[in-house]
Amino acid sequence: MRKVLFVGMIFLTFILFPHKNLAATENELTVENFTLLIRRDANSEAEPLRNVKVNIYGVNSETSERYLLKTIEKCDSNGTISTEKLTTPKRIDQVQFQYYFGNDDQGYIISLRNYRYNANHTRNIPANRVINTIRTTSIYGSTLDAEFYSKITRLSNVYRDIYQDQKLAIEKARPYINTAQVDFKPINIIYDDALDIPGGGFNRYGHGEYIKEPILALSTKNIVDFRAAVAHEWAHWNMYRVNGMPGGSYQTHYDQVNPYVSYKEGWALFQRHRYTCGLENELANEAQVQNDKRLYGMSTNFTVKGALYDIYDMNFPRNQQIENDELDIYTAFVNGNHSLEDKDLISEGIMYTLMVNSKASTFQEFYTYLMNNYISNHADKTLKGKLENSVGLNGINTDGSFKYSNNLKNYSSKIEDFELGEQMVEGD
Ligand SMILES: [Zn+2]
Repeated sequence: MRKVLFVGMIFLTFILFPHKNLAATENELTVENFTLLIRRDANSEAEPLRNVKVNIYGVNSETSERYLLKTIEKCDSNGTISTEKLTTPKRIDQVQFQYYFGNDDQGYIISLRNYRYNANHTRNIPANRVINTIRTTSIYGSTLDAEFYSKITRLSNVYRDIYQDQKLAIEKARPYINTAQVDFKPINIIYDDALDIPGGGFNRYGHGEYIKEPILALSTKNIVDFRAAVAHEWAHWNMYRVNGMPGGSYQTHYDQVNPYVSYKEGWALFQRHRYTCGLENELANEAQVQNDKRLYGMSTNFTVKGALYDIYDMNFPRNQQIENDELDIYTAFVNGNHSLEDKDLISEGIMYTLMVNSKASTFQEFYTYLMNNYISNHADKTLKGKLENSVGLNGINTDGSFKYSNNLKNYSSKIEDFELGEQMVEGD
């Protein structure tokens, strides 16, 4: 009896799990670690695609059938993915990793045809069915060359860094101001040789035949500094979601424009310089407004940028020698003992949150909101005068109006759609 049972069990095992070892392994794959590094050519530096979406496909090289095995919403900041064991419906002998230039939270680098660029790498599955490797390679497309892919790798990483910095700034500011109204929404960036604009741009209506939602765009010919361009256009997108950002065009940042334009552009200029120069490295432009008759007391983009920067930055001794703007947002809201890096992020987070909470569409509205809600009733009674002096150095009155040009009637009320094609020149 015992013997019969034993034989029966072997038989049953054979019936229930036939060819287990052979069949199952050909339908399995484990990606312990895979990292894609992209370079222009063998002599240039390789860069990972940081925190981007990755699709993992299984491929049968005989039939060319391809199965989506898994989507990783974001690889890590080194461009690495890893998975549990994956099972495929049919036998596969190759694996394909498809890296996008972006992710769902942030947005993607796209073409004029609204196509999400992606970089693919296919490799044979080894006998142990485990992938554990770093691949450094140049990516070519049917129409796009390795140089283009290496550029959009850098662009994707710059965008990711700006996005992360902004989120971190809000987190750091959260203990000191109510950030409940602050949120982030994804927006794509067009990067395409066929796009004919002079610089960077934001357009609320999209662009061309294929893109009908708000979009950022960068010229492939004229943009050298991705950090400056993306930080500027990203700032427009965030402000647009708050106040609809009344549009309007401008020729240069020195022109007198209506206060809607000077605020939206001044904000974008401030954000770009804040991101690249921080609290203490904007010395070259510290006294830009007070020394220039075209800017002082005028509704220009640079005037508003100067006033916002003077609210944000700290009056370090070397800044003080150039321009003595006593108020800084960190001292007004925190007055603590953070590292310089944290002071920078907290200050940015507070400025950004004030932009959101105030729903301002002119500098005067921003200033009035700050003054009425946080400064004029502050325990430190000196702050009111300090804020007035700081903006006063830019020729702005104590009520936030421009000393020489605040009357909206002085300007054409023509609100144009801005600004796909705004000029981004060095220093903007
Ligand atoms: Zn702009």
